[in-house]
Amino acid sequence: MWTGHLGVLFLLATSFVLQAESRKYEKKCKKIMKFLHVSDIHLDPFYNQSMDKDTYCHKSNGSKRTADYKAPYGRIGCDSPEWLWESTLREMKSKGADFMLLTGDSAAHGMTDTQGSPKVLRAMSLVSSKAHEVFPDIPIFPCFGNNDLPGHYILPNSSEWYETVLSYWSPLILCSKCPPNVTKTTTQEKLKKTFLNGGYYSANIANKKMVVLVLNTMYWYDIKYTDPLVDKIAENQFVWLEEQLILAKRRKRKALIMSHIPPGGDPFDFSYFWISKYTKRFVNIVGKFHTIIVGQFYAHTHKHDFRLQILNSTGAATEEKSSKSFALQTASVSPVYANNPAFKVFKLNTKKKAVLDYDQFYLDLVVATEFSNPVWQFDYTFSKKFPSKRKVIDADRIDELNQQLISQTDGRFWNSYIKGTTANYQTSQYDRFPLYCVMRYVFKEDFEKCREKLKVLGG
Ligand SMILES: [Zn+2]
Repeated sequence: MWTGHLGVLFLLATSFVLQAESRKYEKKCKKIMKFLHVSDIHLDPFYNQSMDKDTYCHKSNGSKRTADYKAPYGRIGCDSPEWLWESTLREMKSKGADFMLLTGDSAAHGMTDTQGSPKVLRAMSLVSSKAHEVFPDIPIFPCFGNNDLPGHYILPNSSEWYETVLSYWSPLILCSKCPPNVTKTTTQEKLKKTFLNGGYYSANIANKKMVVLVLNTMYWYDIKYTDPLVDKIAENQFVWLEEQLILAKRRKRKALIMSHIPPGGDPFDFSYFWISKYTKRFVNIVGKFHTIIVGQFYAHTHKHDFRLQILNSTGAATEEKSSKSFALQTASVSPVYANNPAFKVFKLNTKKKAVLDYDQFYLDLVVATEFSNPVWQFDYTFSKKFPSKRKVIDADRIDELNQQLISQTDGRFWNSYIKGTTANYQTSQYDRFPLYCVMRYVFKEDFEKCREKLKVLGG
């Protein structure tokens, strides 16, 4: 009898020790982490499935324009219904990721009206509460987009806006419900310090071997602000970014940078996003710290894309390996600018501290609507679509791909690249040469030179 009890006790104790050991092992040795990159949800709490895209799927005053067909899952030309965000979250959950980058524009277009911005806040609160509901157990790092502000492209003139948004986002960033084996991202006090003064912050991941630097690049965006507070915060954010990178280097950590609007050019009209002196300053900083920056992640264009950042210390363009950085942009969930909803799952090697690969997933809205069958599909794996000897996604790999897109005579990579940008919803023609130039050159003057050169060559 006693022997039996002892046996059971022994087994229980052993299994407890084994479980604790395995948790410890997992915490220490999770070599490959997965993270999600999702963006531009543009959630529209007033979405109406029966209205057509000319009314942005709203019942506007006096308008009786109803659509030819109902679009319960989302309509090309309109922002996202709640269903679409919930469905994206459910699909992302099935990928088993360790953290998520949510790179801005949670709120739909046109949410600011005569009442001010309560609808913007309502949309932002819905996006974050639904995300937290599905992912209470992993950290989520959101940032501000141009639609997540008191007015479209209008930055707050006090910390009140940031205070309200932080009440939605701090459960996601701090991840208080995360299991004990998940790295503590930051503290409420530390988060508040920068967040309330400009909407930017840093967070630890991967057992503190890496850090995520979440920027609010709206402060560097080229819009004619007259508020001196904007200039002040723009400057403070640069100082903070450099301090963070110095600190990371000293602690032998590596960094992921994320924000909404990237530096460089817009593929729609080839205008350049940021104030040019800020682009130079930023590219100088990331060039200086390129050995510790694992990758930069942005959105805003609603299209998946690659970008190079080439600069030497004097500020002139150079092809030197040492001064190259790169950025990845992701397609949006909102189908407003003619793309299928999409997201990416990245693989991160925390030992090598490098981005290894990614998979893109998408929802074919036409098929979903036509057959009332909203099924997310696997789109492609980066390394399979663009095979290379290089085993990680870094600036050299992106440079190689950029060259291949233009130099392959059969246009193999180009054709699959262009389909991937809109997650297989491709209706318009693209001009290959200016797109190649905008991907390659982060400064407008270099882009113009590149475009001119290819024009002269008769490209
Ligand atoms: Zn957007």
